[in-house]
Amino acid sequence: MIKNWLKTFSLILICNGAQAQTGSLQKLYPVNFSEVYINDNFWTPKMNKVADVTLRACIDYTENKTGRIRNFERAALHTKGKHEGVYYDDSDVYKALEAMAYSLRNHPDSAIERKADEWIDKIAAAQLPDGYLNTYYTLTGLENRWTDMEKHEDYCAGHLIEAAIAYYNTTGKRKILDVAIKLADHIDSVFRLKDRHWVSGHQEIELALMKLYHLTNKDKYLQEAKWFLDQRGHGYGKGVIWDQWKDPKYCQDELPVKDQRDITGHAVRAMYLYTGTADVAAVTGDAGYMNAMNAVWEDVVYRNMYLTGGIGALAKNEGFGDDYDLPNDQAYCETCASVGMVFWNQRMNMLTGNAKYIDVLERSLYNGALDGLSLSGDRFFYGNPLASAGTQNRREWFGTACCPSNIARLVASLGNYIYSTGDKGVWVNLFIGSSTRVKVDGNTIGLNMLSGYPWKGDVSITVDPAKKKTFGMHLRIPGWLNQPVPGKLYQYAETKEIKPMISVNGKAADYSINDGYAVINRTWRKGDVITIQFPMEVRQVISNPEVKQDKDRIALQYGPLVYCVEGKDNNDNAWNIIMPAQPKFESTFQPGLLGGVSTINFDANVVQVSADGKSVSTTTQKVTAIPYYSWNNRGASSMQVWLPTTVTNIKLNY
Ligand SMILES: [Zn+2]
Repeated sequence: MIKNWLKTFSLILICNGAQAQTGSLQKLYPVNFSEVYINDNFWTPKMNKVADVTLRACIDYTENKTGRIRNFERAALHTKGKHEGVYYDDSDVYKALEAMAYSLRNHPDSAIERKADEWIDKIAAAQLPDGYLNTYYTLTGLENRWTDMEKHEDYCAGHLIEAAIAYYNTTGKRKILDVAIKLADHIDSVFRLKDRHWVSGHQEIELALMKLYHLTNKDKYLQEAKWFLDQRGHGYGKGVIWDQWKDPKYCQDELPVKDQRDITGHAVRAMYLYTGTADVAAVTGDAGYMNAMNAVWEDVVYRNMYLTGGIGALAKNEGFGDDYDLPNDQAYCETCASVGMVFWNQRMNMLTGNAKYIDVLERSLYNGALDGLSLSGDRFFYGNPLASAGTQNRREWFGTACCPSNIARLVASLGNYIYSTGDKGVWVNLFIGSSTRVKVDGNTIGLNMLSGYPWKGDVSITVDPAKKKTFGMHLRIPGWLNQPVPGKLYQYAETKEIKPMISVNGKAADYSINDGYAVINRTWRKGDVITIQFPMEVRQVISNPEVKQDKDRIALQYGPLVYCVEGKDNNDNAWNIIMPAQPKFESTFQPGLLGGVSTINFDANVVQVSADGKSVSTTTQKVTAIPYYSWNNRGASSMQVWLPTTVTNIKLNY
């Protein structure tokens, strides 16, 4: 596999994103996943699981257990017929195809590629001569197409475009890309070119069109993306989409994007909107978008984000509620919303060069998003609460099945988030064992990273420039060393200043700090080795007092990971534990537990009922906490992230 990867490497070298344009705000250019080979103790087994199990589970449900592919087969007749499922189900086919495309890059698999080609033939056959493609309207009545902004026609189109680009990038095959281009052109001719107003009910097409713009270099796709962004906030959705959701805030349509300052409405819609906004801002340099995103981002991270990086507290709108109202057992925290946080925060980092966005990205990735995928690879969470009375269980699939393929495509494209390049330097964002080659200032630089993350803070990076040259290596100093998240929503109970130890070739490195990165500027030579030690220890987290649900509670964090207590490890009860004032933590790696995790162990008082049920008493018990992402892999069980420090909300029996 490594050989295969190296063989194709020279072909794919080197296109580190689009180059800076006049007026561009973009500071960093993420290295594409297709140029990054991951070999990491933590992530490689998960990526293999996605390649071997998750993709096949998605294929089975898309093709056999639901009618998603059958819809395309029938729509290929271009006449009315039976439509199975919900109007947005085409998008699940496209997202599964996109995940297959990413996975094929690191895990060539002829059976998966054959399946993808088979699907592509069916998708292409369902496209109408004018470029329109949506099985719901083809089968239920084309006379109604483009009449209902909520019906996700453009959302599905966006996912087709993303899948097409991914598949083209991996295989070089154009068929699905040509279908996507024809559809993008059709939509452009129906809306922008006629200036027919249309507020997309579920954003997605904006970011997809920006990918198409970067692939084709055709300005019209940039204009089309910008046109969709600028449709919002002018009342065009009034009487249409507003009535369906009772509130224009639901799909971020109350104000023009540039005037938005608060996070509102459906969480996934918001994340995709701001990802697309950042993509447009990166090219146009429009500060109006940037000002809006800065304010909205602070509203999310300072007042509306869970410790796990999950967002969208409420089930009723799958989205945001009041500031600081963050219920734990009722937390919605859709997996897709955490995936969206990864997308948006990467774009914000790319625009600003600031590491704080990667701090949030990392939190959402390792906690809120990863929790959506079971260790077995074929069970999923749609919502990711921070406490459970043991009633939740991972499921094989959902009626609305956005989450499985979304977490699959994120994990399969993990390489997108590790390295960036910028003006005369390399940026290292995530500490994931991997190798790549990047081009900076005309020089090709090989990078090979070894990492014990997230269990150990040891990282080494070998730097191999083709020519010895002076440039900056920018190493992210993880924000979690000194504060759980940017802002004041969460704090460590004990403040202390922890600095990483960084050396080059065994000698303490001379570095400056800029935007959250340690910057080592020197003349780099082949074989130079950077070693980093991020001290990792168990940290207690307290919440801002405004969050009443976390009052008198403590959460545990180790490195980037949020921990939870699950009944399975604690006499079947995660709700009778009282956090001691001075806990003595021990952390040990347990290779046989939950795919290999470090547990946190400590003594705590637990409240118990006497055998006759007539009294309660307190005894000391050894408590075991596990990483949040790994809970609910042994069946239903009670769970809590925020542990009480006083006798509050204790549950004695299940
Ligand atoms: Zn979802």
